[in-house]
Amino acid sequence: MIDLLIATNNNGKIREIRSLLSGSVQDLSLFTPEDFGIKISPDENGETFLENSIEKSLFYSNLRKGILTIADDSGLMVNSLDGLPGIRSARYSGDNPDDKKNIIKLLNELKNKQNRDAGFISVITLSKDGKVIRSFIGEVRGKIIDEQSGSNGFGYDPVFYYEPLEKTFAELSENEKNRISHRSIALNKLKDYLKENIDTL
Ligand code: IMP
Repeated sequence: MIDLLIATNNNGKIREIRSLLSGSVQDLSLFTPEDFGIKISPDENGETFLENSIEKSLFYSNLRKGILTIADDSGLMVNSLDGLPGIRSARYSGDNPDDKKNIIKLLNELKNKQNRDAGFISVITLSKDGKVIRSFIGEVRGKIIDEQSGSNGFGYDPVFYYEPLEKTFAELSENEKNRISHRSIALNKLKDYLKENIDTL
């Protein structure tokens, strides 16, 4: 059995990552920081998704040696806001941020902006014993709409409209989101890597 720590306390991410990894790679056993009584979390000092993903993965990997660790750093990049909220997606609305406040700030910033093109990015970093093994990236494109719609998912999902399915991410079932999301694209790359290399990790 190979143990893998999902290095996040974000329940939305944990749910999606669990469902995407469960049963996909033989003999993989999934844990969260809570399972190991880890209550501290890292600062995010990086300037890119990749830097923050590596920082988080190494932080937890150093706390729990001997097992594989993955961390996801992700966010929303909006074209007409020069890529914001970007790496600040979780903290966009300032002190004591939450999903609702973040969406309100985003829609305010987008008032009078015609171009609503945006993308979700996910960078997943796999590490072990405090060393990076590899990072995997995924991106999905969509548009930010003014009317929030749907109650599934988390974060900016109610205003992220995915044109091919004519729905916001929050209107998609978890399975539907997991077929197309930025996180699933990155995790599918991770899964392929794990399948090929599981004997040596
Ligand atoms: P992180 O925990 O620093 O990686 O911040 C991720 C933030 O990006 C989340 O708190 C959300 O605001 C946003 N985000 C990332 N992935 C998604 C998603 O799949 N749906 C909606 N929002 C997301």
